[in-house]
Amino acid sequence: MNYYAAPIAVLIEEFSKLPGIGRKSAQRLAFHVLNMRESDAVNLSEAILNAKRNTKYCSECGNITDIDPCSICRNEQRDKNMICVVQDPKDIIAMEKTKEFRGVYHVLHGAISPMEGIGPEEIRIKELLIRLQKYDIEEVILATNPTIEGEATAMYISKLVKPSGIKVTRIAHGIPVGGDLEYADEVTLSKALEGRREI
Ligand SMILES: [Zn+2]
Repeated sequence: MNYYAAPIAVLIEEFSKLPGIGRKSAQRLAFHVLNMRESDAVNLSEAILNAKRNTKYCSECGNITDIDPCSICRNEQRDKNMICVVQDPKDIIAMEKTKEFRGVYHVLHGAISPMEGIGPEEIRIKELLIRLQKYDIEEVILATNPTIEGEATAMYISKLVKPSGIKVTRIAHGIPVGGDLEYADEVTLSKALEGRREI
């Protein structure tokens, strides 16, 4: 039953909670930690705590940041009239890597999913509408994932925003259907942005 000394068992248990880490990988990581220099183990544990304690969501866009508002929202060079709506903070990284987009973002922190009981009020749609009223926005680019949930979310937002006269576009499907924005390579994603169409 208990093959491992208690502290190792705890470590394996914690590692196996991480995404994509199965039992075997968790065990491998735990033994790797045991072989680390103590200073490296301290650095690792401190890095985890620091990342957790010293980051928050940007009060403007919902991006993860250590300083509020985030560096993108603070940047004077960014076009504040263009908002790119994404599901996850990780998607901002993917978009930024394309170096094509000079506007600002809005992170929904999820997508509408009736199957999982996630309705429009569970994600940051209300916050988006407030931003649209507050600022002079010319275009809303919907860059939610090309999944059923992502499409449903894009359609929902489009219907809400269009009556206000703001241009609403959806990124093109260079991204494989069912895929995640964060896994799309830069070329595919910049093509998808370039080929966005009005909806
Ligand atoms: Zn921000």
